[in-house]
Amino acid sequence: MSASARPPDSRGPCGRFAPTPSGPLHAGSLLAAVGSYLSVKQANGRWLLRIEDLDRNRAIPGVAEQMLQTLESFGFEWDGKVEFQNDRILFYEQALASLQADGLCYPCRCSRSQLAAHSLDPAEEMVYSGTCRSDPDAHQWPHALRFRTDARMPEIGFVDRLQGPISEDCHHRAGDFVIRRRDGFFAYHLAVVVDDELQGVTEVVRGCDLLSCTPRQILLQRALGYRTPAYAHLPLLLEADGRKLAKSRHAVPLDAGRAAPALWEALVWLRQEPPAELAGATVRELWAWALPNWRPERLGGCRELRL
Ligand code: GLU
Repeated sequence: MSASARPPDSRGPCGRFAPTPSGPLHAGSLLAAVGSYLSVKQANGRWLLRIEDLDRNRAIPGVAEQMLQTLESFGFEWDGKVEFQNDRILFYEQALASLQADGLCYPCRCSRSQLAAHSLDPAEEMVYSGTCRSDPDAHQWPHALRFRTDARMPEIGFVDRLQGPISEDCHHRAGDFVIRRRDGFFAYHLAVVVDDELQGVTEVVRGCDLLSCTPRQILLQRALGYRTPAYAHLPLLLEADGRKLAKSRHAVPLDAGRAAPALWEALVWLRQEPPAELAGATVRELWAWALPNWRPERLGGCRELRL
């Protein structure tokens, strides 16, 4: 497939689940998988599975295979073959070449410590000061590539299906962001927009932890002449005290042997109110109920669910 070819949209909506194999799937990942699956399957659409294994330092051997087995035991049926980002490097290179040809990115040789020194608030996501923007020699050193944002560009706005209108001034809030890292790996933002475009994804349903990334991704889509899919950001599952589930001792891997009760619980967390008599149902029975009864609007405006 060339970078300009895109599958036709004639088969209804197309969604995807795109886990990073840096650890096994847990209850939080299950919510994203269930939400994206029900959204497109209810409308007879396609649901793709993509393993975001670009960062070889983070990918744990065997985890991707384990993820597929877990998803299978939970009764997910994905369409087409599973894609691995590491097999798609050529597409990211083509997109990068197009951005370079348009003068939209530049090499940055700033080290981590230089970047940290410029950061005003270590708790905030860092906004790059633009030091290397006009450094003609940066490419002669080990360097990352940054997408050039512009102070004059309008705010990027979109209407999230669950979170409502979102708008961000990418230049001031995110600054010039990395699209290829200094270690040579393509960054998540570039890979995700290329994949969503080339795979014909029309709706992205994922966790609210990625809501703040979306304006930057839309910026890249526009720069590359891509369409923008519909977005719906699901609430994040947190510990009762507000801590991230993924970092707590409760973030246990999903147990394939307990798929039905975990799926039931996920539907409850997603405010779908499955009928009490389904509490002991099989995975198949739960999906048979959930598909026609999916009501995502029950999560409207909700950004976190505490256990
Ligand atoms: N790979 C990302 C994650 O596991 C999800 C990316 C996305 O859905 O856009 O958090």
